[in-house]
Amino acid sequence: LISSRINTNKDTTSAEKNTVTGSSTSCNSSTASTDAASSPAGSLSGTTYIAKDNIVTTHEFSTGASRILSNYRSPFDATVVLLLDAAGSTLLGKSNLDEFGMGSSTTNSHYGTTLNPLYSVEVETGKAHISGGSSGGSAAAVAGKLANFALGTDTGGSVRQPASYCGTVGFKPTYGRISRWGVISYAQTLDTVGIISDDIHTVEKVYHVLDKYDDKDPTSLPDDIRNSLKSKCSEDVNSTSLTVGVPREFVVGDLSQEVKEVWFSVLSQLQDMGHTVKIVSVPSIKQSLSSYYTLATAEAASNLSRYDGVRYGQTTEDLQEKAHDLIVANRTNGFGPEVQRRILLGNYTLSSESGDHYIKATQVREKLVNEFNQVFNLRHVFSNDTNVDKETSGRCDILVAPTAINSAPTLEEYHQQNETNFLNDYVNDILTVPASLAGLPTISIPRGKHGIQIMGQFGADQTVLDVSKKLM
Ligand code: GLN
Repeated sequence: LISSRINTNKDTTSAEKNTVTGSSTSCNSSTASTDAASSPAGSLSGTTYIAKDNIVTTHEFSTGASRILSNYRSPFDATVVLLLDAAGSTLLGKSNLDEFGMGSSTTNSHYGTTLNPLYSVEVETGKAHISGGSSGGSAAAVAGKLANFALGTDTGGSVRQPASYCGTVGFKPTYGRISRWGVISYAQTLDTVGIISDDIHTVEKVYHVLDKYDDKDPTSLPDDIRNSLKSKCSEDVNSTSLTVGVPREFVVGDLSQEVKEVWFSVLSQLQDMGHTVKIVSVPSIKQSLSSYYTLATAEAASNLSRYDGVRYGQTTEDLQEKAHDLIVANRTNGFGPEVQRRILLGNYTLSSESGDHYIKATQVREKLVNEFNQVFNLRHVFSNDTNVDKETSGRCDILVAPTAINSAPTLEEYHQQNETNFLNDYVNDILTVPASLAGLPTISIPRGKHGIQIMGQFGADQTVLDVSKKLM
């Protein structure tokens, strides 16, 4: 179920000379992160991990679970892999995903479906459950106790939602905290490397190893910003009474009764710990799904235009005479149906005929960020809006919401639900995409077969981790 390949062949001379990650203007592998040297050496020694297969490594194939990259070997390792190596952790293999990270089920993979180990008994009775996605292979690997932790990527919920479905912790740090160098781009303004483990302390340790500036990633937060965030977020949550916000827009009609009960029990637990819980409003959460699917598909269409089967991956031998036919055949055979659908949607959005969808989606995103800024106590490190500071009393330190509207459906339920309309699958992301659009640090902590999200202001990763440690 998990496309894990352990390849001990260290000879990388056969590596293709091309790169597919495209997250930087430079493709020079010889400058691969020397920051690795400054990782807390040995802080992860003795641990093992599995990397989602859209994170490139030199010793294994890096496929993005796509047929078009099924024979692709990267000539360099992702910065996150180098940092973990320097900290003493051992990479066991790569994990399955929805092709290029597009999906919420790990059923859209060239390598097949990843099932959920939480329900392994039910598999025997013919009732397999999905693992969630797109980092379903990583969450399943952790739930199946194959490794101490796994790396995933979260563009609109892909670390948090499978973690919730598989009963593990899934942490999506602030956008820009962890290097994207070596992450195969889906939607680069949203893509964030995340950490999945069943132990919150392991998640924290791994986060500290990876939380570094990387000059190969143009969106990596520079050190002066990191330092200023450190001094602003230094409050000790153990000795502080926090204000916990519950955005009313997350109370969506589809939430199952069980999810509501789990949500309320976590809020009561926080109250019992001496924190104050209050209802808040972030109105643009309601538009966040449309904004997300407009922006993410537009970025994806642009990012995936590099796969022509000529520079990377699978090619169709008998059409080499005509460039156009060759590329059409390679892309038609190389991409799965969901990826093709998103390329079409994205190209439509980016075309002049579509009007100004892209601009409107960007405006919704900006509005959402401003609304989050009005709700949080901590001032956004990039905000120059002085109105934000006018009235700060009664604002929140964290926000709490469910991760998914329900527990993992069976494979059968999942297919039935999406057969009639593929949009049903997109709607389930309503609880995770708002934090992605705003780049907020968010963790999903397990409560049985459900997950609860703790969200913080941009840069308040440590607060989110500290609160989660208290809740676990
Ligand atoms: N389900 C969302 C999508 O398909 C999120 C995916 C992700 O975070 N990679 O876009």
